[in-house]
Amino acid sequence: AYKGLWWFHIVLVLGFFAVIPKLRIRHVLMAIASTAGKPDVPMGKLRTIPMEEVEATEKIGAKEPADLSRWHLMSLDACMECGRCTEVCPAWSVGKLLNPKQIVQDARRAATNKLELAPSLSEEALWQCTTCNACVEACPVLIRHVDIIVDVRRNLVSEGALSGTAATMLRQTASTGHAWGAPRGEREKWMEGLDIPLCRDGVEFDVLFWVGCAGATDPGAVRTTKAVAGLLKKAGIKFACLGQEEACTGDPARRTGEEFLFQEKAMENASMFEQYGVKKVVTACPHCFNSLKNEYGDFGAQMEVFHHTQLLGDLVSKGVLLAAKPEKAVLHDPCYLTRVNEEVAAPRQMVEGIAEPVHKGKKTLCCGAGGGRMWMEEPTDQRPSDRRADELLATGADTVAVACPFCRIMLDGPLKARNEGIKLLDLAEMMAEKNGV
Ligand code: SF4
Ligand code: SF4
Repeated sequence: AYKGLWWFHIVLVLGFFAVIPKLRIRHVLMAIASTAGKPDVPMGKLRTIPMEEVEATEKIGAKEPADLSRWHLMSLDACMECGRCTEVCPAWSVGKLLNPKQIVQDARRAATNKLELAPSLSEEALWQCTTCNACVEACPVLIRHVDIIVDVRRNLVSEGALSGTAATMLRQTASTGHAWGAPRGEREKWMEGLDIPLCRDGVEFDVLFWVGCAGATDPGAVRTTKAVAGLLKKAGIKFACLGQEEACTGDPARRTGEEFLFQEKAMENASMFEQYGVKKVVTACPHCFNSLKNEYGDFGAQMEVFHHTQLLGDLVSKGVLLAAKPEKAVLHDPCYLTRVNEEVAAPRQMVEGIAEPVHKGKKTLCCGAGGGRMWMEEPTDQRPSDRRADELLATGADTVAVACPFCRIMLDGPLKARNEGIKLLDLAEMMAEKNGV
């Protein structure tokens, strides 16, 4: 009887292992393995593709599931189909095809059946992603949807699958070094009459003020740039700008899938940093901030990088500058500052008594501009910026405060269409007014 019982248990245990692949417990085991083995990479850092890899594989990015890393493949099996990623997706919430849970399911199916990724995941859905990382932040088993989406985009771009306005942005970035195609000289127009120190004049500086493409030429973003420069002067910070020696960080190109255009711009800018001995950088653009902070290290740039809210918020906490005190303002948090780089406190140090919308901090709601979406056609009834504008105005505010030039561009039209008198200001402008700048 004892021997019979022994065999019964052996069969039971072996049977359990045999059916694991078909059971839900498999996801639990894969979730444990995938979270334990998760690479220690910041949310805002995409993988740098070495040229040797392209020469060896003769392809860029992920065409087949086998082109994804072993960890990314394993993470697909960890998905418990909870749907939290889809609940928070700004594209899905306005009726687009993109559904991050489906992306994971389809990638898993493609891996099982050895299918190509782009047709399995839907090209239309892949281009709809703003790379806001809300799905990544929400996923209980730490799946990195954005890595997968961008890796497939990279392969599509390398095969010439991108056309239209986003392809124009890539050409402009390549030819002028400016994402909207402005000539180099226009990067210094905002400086006229302001006596802005330039690195090329040999001035001594502690902080490089990185202006960014929008910050140099978009009329709204230029107001932010002038406010930041004025506040830095008022606080006695020794800063300088690169002016026409600055080129796009390459962030829109990288997240659209043009990896080697990004690498070209990163090398160009990193060599400028080295030439001028840059140790600290401040920028008012969270996309530039993320790229410079998390991605430029791969190109030899070793420096401290600050978003303007961090530097100005710190000056407020030290009593050097005054915080703004608006009466009826609401704060819109940028994805690449508060979620991707987890900086929630700094914008709040710049302003006292500001209202907050339902989605805030790490759970902020995307304006729809990231991942190159700023340059892509948007159906008028499917704009994430409309949904965000409704939520911001529901607070009863007469002023919307932003901390990102992309958010400002995206929210401007939808806010004014709903309320002509609404004011849209960067936190730096609010502080500039308070400090008499
Ligand atoms: S990154 Fe944002 S837009 Fe893209 S799939 Fe995730 S939640 Fe949706
Ligand atoms: S949140 Fe993560 S586990 Fe849940 S459905 Fe999305 S990918 Fe799967």
